[in-house]
Amino acid sequence: MDYQQFAKVELGFFPTPLVKLSRLSQALGCEIWMKRDDMTGLAFGGNKTRKLEYILADALAKGCDTIITAGAAQSNHCRQTAAAAAQLNLECHLLLGGEQPEKAEGNLLLDNLFGCHIHWAGNNRKGEDIPALYQNLQAKGKKPYIVPYGGSNELGALAFIDAVKELAEQSRGLAFSRLIFASSSGGTHAGLILGKRLFNLAFELVGINIDKDENADLPFDGQILDLVRKTAKMTGSTETFLPQDLILNPHYLGEGYGIVGTPENEAIALTAQLEGILLDPVYTGRAMAGLIDMIRTGEIAQGEQVLFWHTGGAPSLFAYADQLDLTQSKNKPI
Ligand SMILES: *Cc1c(COP(=O)(O)O)cnc(C)c1O
Repeated sequence: MDYQQFAKVELGFFPTPLVKLSRLSQALGCEIWMKRDDMTGLAFGGNKTRKLEYILADALAKGCDTIITAGAAQSNHCRQTAAAAAQLNLECHLLLGGEQPEKAEGNLLLDNLFGCHIHWAGNNRKGEDIPALYQNLQAKGKKPYIVPYGGSNELGALAFIDAVKELAEQSRGLAFSRLIFASSSGGTHAGLILGKRLFNLAFELVGINIDKDENADLPFDGQILDLVRKTAKMTGSTETFLPQDLILNPHYLGEGYGIVGTPENEAIALTAQLEGILLDPVYTGRAMAGLIDMIRTGEIAQGEQVLFWHTGGAPSLFAYADQLDLTQSKNKPI
């Protein structure tokens, strides 16, 4: 698998730290480590920084001058794309789901600061309107480049092969039984699967499914496996990947995408109060709630050494203030 043949543009600071969460570990009875991809640096960081290094290198190589991407109003992907576009002197257009709110908060506030163009897409929150915008910009003489929803194409997935290499170098002497992370548009998941295979790592890779996608042609696990195979092919690999290579845990979807329930609130409060680390309300809060539940129910055994991949997202906390329960878990026995 020759994944190093692809160009990258430097947007973040790597390697991101690998840290032990001592107090949370003590509280839950497992040894919990965290990979801090919330600290990639680009505009408050997050997992999209890694993907954009490959994707925007491709945009530059193709001579494009305008970037189009799509997401939810509080998309972390859109915020990091807007920041990277500013840095690289690319015009940036974001297609955001829903209607323009009265006040720009959280990630949307930051999108505005980066000077991008925002288009409100109503119910089309996954980029359904991209082709029309592409044609429109082209007709105006621009050279647009489409960054897919969540940055989840082959180039985006490639970035997480690098990330696993980084992890392998940092974690010598450690033996994680599992790696838990939030999986949504699938690029992170696909890259982690490829990296795990390439570097022959033993942990069980558990993606916590964040967003139930009822409208897609293929269910999420099929989409992710498809992306794994396409990315492997792009690198010239002849490895085979089977459905059993992919674990997408569907038990923590809660009330739906972006709805903060009791488990998410508890996970956010515990991690903040025991570690001084901010999770986000949509992705990492939900994934951490999954990890906590798996420990409490015994699915993860006491004493296991596990890794949580922090994929970022905390800027959206400010936009979710109304859904955060500030009394959650305070002084409550675990
Ligand atoms: C996008 C995102 C994810 C999911 O990553 P995918 O590659 O889209 O599956 C997880 N956490 C945060 C904070 C994100 O912004």
